[in-house]
Amino acid sequence: MFDNSFDKLEAYLNTNITNKKYDIIIVGGGSSGLMLAHLLNNKNLSILLLESTKRIATKLLMTGNGRCNVISSYKEKELEEKIYNGRFLRGAFLKYDLKKFFENNNLALKEENMRLYPKSEKSIDVVNMFNIENIVLKKNSKVTDLIFDKLKLIGVVCGENKYYGEKIVLCTGGKSFPKSGSDGSMHNILKKHNISITKTYPSEVPLVFPDFSSLSGVSIQNVKIFNKNHYSIGDILFTHKGISGPCAIGIGEFVARENNTEFFIDFLPDITEEKLFLNLFNNHKYLQNSFPKSFYKFIMEDFPKNNPSKKNIRKFISEKIKRYSLKNVKTLPIEKAFVTAGGVNLKEINNTTLSHKKIKNLYFAGELLDLHGEIGGFNLTIAWISAMIIADNII
Ligand SMILES: Cc1cc2nc3c(=O)[nH]c(=O)nc-3n(C[C@H](O)[C@H](O)[C@H](O)COP(=O)(O)OP(=O)(O)OC[C@H]3O[C@@H](n4cnc5c(N)ncnc54)[C@H](O)[C@@H]3O)c2cc1C
Repeated sequence: MFDNSFDKLEAYLNTNITNKKYDIIIVGGGSSGLMLAHLLNNKNLSILLLESTKRIATKLLMTGNGRCNVISSYKEKELEEKIYNGRFLRGAFLKYDLKKFFENNNLALKEENMRLYPKSEKSIDVVNMFNIENIVLKKNSKVTDLIFDKLKLIGVVCGENKYYGEKIVLCTGGKSFPKSGSDGSMHNILKKHNISITKTYPSEVPLVFPDFSSLSGVSIQNVKIFNKNHYSIGDILFTHKGISGPCAIGIGEFVARENNTEFFIDFLPDITEEKLFLNLFNNHKYLQNSFPKSFYKFIMEDFPKNNPSKKNIRKFISEKIKRYSLKNVKTLPIEKAFVTAGGVNLKEINNTTLSHKKIKNLYFAGELLDLHGEIGGFNLTIAWISAMIIADNII
């Protein structure tokens, strides 16, 4: 491999002098990486934190539109239901009290609709809460491979450098918003080393659907989007590409996952089809007060003209109001999703330590794992809790 003595010397210096062996290497300075570094900060360990971009916590700063929905108020049972594969973390949901943790660390919280935010409504205050002063932080340090000596994991490759550690924790996030640094590069490295990654797809993602492009910018409150297995209720916002807003974003992962089934919109979920029929039969302009002007005009173009029959009114209600077909609806790509669904296969991970069952000194936290949740603080909950499990078991 080395064709002259200078190369040999450089390699020797790299492995034996410049790169000492750390107790722990944390890869990824995002939400879970920071939490882990903070929890291990005062444990008298030599810890290296490698972050690929020029700053830490980029995605955490973006959360909740800069307000950071730091956790949910839901308790263990609901957390398990609202997080995909949530059962995997059942024991940890019981063990860790995240609200208490943040309050004990002087981050005052406030609640809105079961969501907790910093009282200051500033995500930077969450970032600043973490104390990592005893951790060696190297920014602009992208890990490009893992180093194995025979079957034992011994370090990571970081561009020209190699770093060696007793234990290695991967906190590299998913594939969404790659400009934040979470670009999915670790998924490929893991696959190369036969660590299995379940199918990844977008979650918390707007829909692509052409019908409403002329209504871009118009929003409708309290709408239901559903298929035979799932539904989401809330506000929608028409965009030039399709439909956004909490209701659409909430159903996005199911659209991505079950794209062989048909999805529908119910524009008036609080009124039955029969009642709507009676109202509309008696007053053809009944819907005027139910929707914004532009949407009313748009939808009434399909209202049967000239003395419509009962049958045609029922057909209009069914097809245009209660079950508007979203045939062939798609989602924006994973890069534009808020969260990545899919990740490191949990079957290969010990859920009491979050280490790999075969490569016992390799640990995983956060969105890199095949865990994701709804909007509402569940994804950061995954990041915090997984870091806590590791902090309690890695030493
Ligand atoms: C716009 C937006 C808003 C959101 N709002 C909320 C919210 O309010 N509440 C909520 O619960 N969730 C929210 N989320 C989701 C939440 O931010 C993520 O689920 C969470 O940050 C994941 O934490 P993580 O530590 O797994 O990954 P990240 O926070 O993404 O951190 C991963 C880090 O690893 C680094 N990295 C990646 N690959 C490498 C490599 N090869 N070498 C070295 N470093 C690497 C990245 O640069 C990054 O810094 C939001 C997401 C987005 C995009």
